[in-house]
Amino acid sequence: MGGINTKFGLLSEEYLFREIESRRVAYETAHPAERIISLGIGDVTLPLGRCVTGAMALAAKEMGTLRGFHGYPPAFGYPFLREAIAGAYAERGVTLSPEEIYISDGAKTDAAIIPQLFSEVPVLVTDPGYPVYRDMGLLSGHRVRFLPATRENGYLPLPGDLEDIPQVICLCSPGNPTGAAYDRAGMETWVAYARKSGSLLVWDAAYAVYLPSDAPHSIFEIPDARFCAVELGSFSKSAGFTGVRCAWSVFTEEVLFDGQPLALLWRRLKSTSSNGVSYLTQRGAEAALSEKGREECERKIAYYRENAARLSDCFFHLGWQGLGGDTSPYLWLECPAGLSSWEAFDLLLTRVGLVTTPGVGFGQTGEGHLRFSSFARREEIMEAVRRLRRVFSK
Ligand code: PLP
Repeated sequence: MGGINTKFGLLSEEYLFREIESRRVAYETAHPAERIISLGIGDVTLPLGRCVTGAMALAAKEMGTLRGFHGYPPAFGYPFLREAIAGAYAERGVTLSPEEIYISDGAKTDAAIIPQLFSEVPVLVTDPGYPVYRDMGLLSGHRVRFLPATRENGYLPLPGDLEDIPQVICLCSPGNPTGAAYDRAGMETWVAYARKSGSLLVWDAAYAVYLPSDAPHSIFEIPDARFCAVELGSFSKSAGFTGVRCAWSVFTEEVLFDGQPLALLWRRLKSTSSNGVSYLTQRGAEAALSEKGREECERKIAYYRENAARLSDCFFHLGWQGLGGDTSPYLWLECPAGLSSWEAFDLLLTRVGLVTTPGVGFGQTGEGHLRFSSFARREEIMEAVRRLRRVFSK
């Protein structure tokens, strides 16, 4: 007998951010005079750069003319954007053909459909980790296993004694929620393991722009990755495109799984599941990669970095343990006084007027942690710091 996808039963009932929102709304309704500061959901707060809005306005005007009108975009993206992204990789010494870059409306969309390339494979995800890999892996009928990211391994699990079987391994660096980033040696270790075991690395580099410039930003900075990795990139957290929606995936022509060329299957899957990304959006993304656009992005990133540094300084003085947000817009902290994630969430909401993200929402190993986002206005960060110090200073 057919029916709904029974795998829904494997997912937790409420998606994390909906639960956070409902607790926040309940508290706000009961305390209308209090000003709540949100360092919860990782959404950017600064407006788009002028370079981007200018290019999008121009594209809109073009679309209003007979000659400049564009209908359905090419399924894998306009060549101008694929070339601009390949150019940005080339500046870091990574050679990719523009045809190996596939434009999409979000790294989330790509992460969500990648599991459909496979049938009943082991999918390995970090715990804690970005929930999309786990949930979409389960919904697609795969066996999902967890790699604990703990204080002991610096929140950066390595293959260690993993058995040599082909599996799909989803890694995010810098990580969400922990912010921890693999160095070159860690990336080489994963690439070597993937080669040896016939596994595929799904490397999510959505936050790569937060890394110091001398750190590797792409898995393809490790040469053998061409054979065993795909990568996700996004304009969301670099150019502030969370509301515009533009991202990309890299599938090289050499990458195989189970002897099959994945790029071929990816093209089949993408052209079946999407009609592409609007011309306006892709012109905006292209502008974000121009020299002027990059300066604008860099200013935004520097602003969020400074926010993260101020939060980090506060937690250092309060003696809270965790990661500082120096390679990512997130801070990952152990809850004070041994509280559970949701207990600490409620404490911060009710005593500090601060919305955070409970670490357990990213996996069981995240229990006892909170994630703080530095995507906020500076005044809000300063106010959050003042309140935290007032409540928690000994
Ligand atoms: N990957 C990670 C690790 C993320 O944290 C997010 C968004 O928060 C995404 C991907 C989604 O990016 P996009 O906005 O491009 O869909």
